[in-house]
Amino acid sequence: MTDKLTSKVAMELENKYGAHNYHPLPVVLSKGKGARVWDVEGKEYFDFLSAYSAVNQGHCHPKIVGALVDQAQTLTLTSRAFYSDALGGYEKYITEYFGYDKVLPMNTGAEADETALKLCRKWAYDKKGIEANKAKIIVCADNFHGRTITIISMSTDPDARGGFGPYTPGFITIPYNDLPALEKALEDPDIAGFLVEPIQGEAGVMVPDEGYLKKAYNMCKAKNVLFIADEVQTGIARTGKLLACEHEGVRPDILILGKAISGGVYPVSAVLADDDIMLTIKPGQHGSTFGGNPVAAKVAVAALEVVKEEKLAERAERLGKIFREEMKKIDSDMIELVRGKGLLNAVVIRPKNGKTAMDVCLKMAENGVLAKPTHDHIIRFAPPLVISEEELMEAVELIKKSILAFS
Ligand code: PLP
Repeated sequence: MTDKLTSKVAMELENKYGAHNYHPLPVVLSKGKGARVWDVEGKEYFDFLSAYSAVNQGHCHPKIVGALVDQAQTLTLTSRAFYSDALGGYEKYITEYFGYDKVLPMNTGAEADETALKLCRKWAYDKKGIEANKAKIIVCADNFHGRTITIISMSTDPDARGGFGPYTPGFITIPYNDLPALEKALEDPDIAGFLVEPIQGEAGVMVPDEGYLKKAYNMCKAKNVLFIADEVQTGIARTGKLLACEHEGVRPDILILGKAISGGVYPVSAVLADDDIMLTIKPGQHGSTFGGNPVAAKVAVAALEVVKEEKLAERAERLGKIFREEMKKIDSDMIELVRGKGLLNAVVIRPKNGKTAMDVCLKMAENGVLAKPTHDHIIRFAPPLVISEEELMEAVELIKKSILAFS
């Protein structure tokens, strides 16, 4: 016989038996539907984090869950030692969807980033003619690309990086949104690629100046350097376009996707590129037991179909404008700045009487809106893109009430 699990017991279990590598808000979720989630006591919340933009299509979307269940009852995993009847169809679908020759399927965002780095280095040696082991990749300060040793080697965040050395060499760090710094770094003939987030999500929704991506892309082209976009968080309609790079008409040489490719239903990530780049990786040189498995393949097709069928990019664009306008209207000196694109937004909080962004988030949770601070003073607001205008306005009122509670 088991007692009903309370929030308190669930949190105690995680604290006692789980590694302490996260610092969650004290909310224990047990159900989700669309833009809403419920805790174990039945309290309802609007989800304004969307699992860091993985749940763009809304919680438990019936079409995506349907694809998962159907495939899970048929064939789950073959490994890539054999062909499967699900993978090719997915590969055709996703490459046509984003307009690339080939896809390399992985599972998590970090794995897709690692894949892109390997691909870039391989291309540098096989195609660009950089001397063995000399290739360098330019990255941006305050980036977030995941948690592996190589990825934290590119990080400038002391929490992400500190205490985990020695670090992988081969990266040049420049400030984000700084074209002169990029121009200078590109003078090195051993540069193979430039890896960039079109908007830096984890850094606090840092939106670069208009024209930055396009100019950076052109500068890379002039030096035969690959422009690699990490759209793990910004992609799949989040910023009001299918890809954030589309805002500036940029088509990355290597495109990295994750999170919402599966609507948050399953770990699916992908790297897309044209043949000239992708075919430099040969059999045995890269892979993953689970990458491109039949469940992932079917789930991803369903999730990408939902994005088009429900016009989620247009929706994010329209609702994002409303959201930012409403946030700017809140009459509180705690609001220092509102920024973002589509439904990837941030409010910068000016602490007041010792109350910080974390206090605001705890108050919002009490009032029924879930969001999490990033970097102490920034709150990211990124609801599922299926949220209706009425729901958004309901949530806006709760956010207002929470912030004004400290006035
Ligand atoms: N790249 C970006 C831009 C991200 O925002 C994240 C996660 O937040 C990742 C990569 C890593 O993805 P994952 O946690 O699935 O490894």
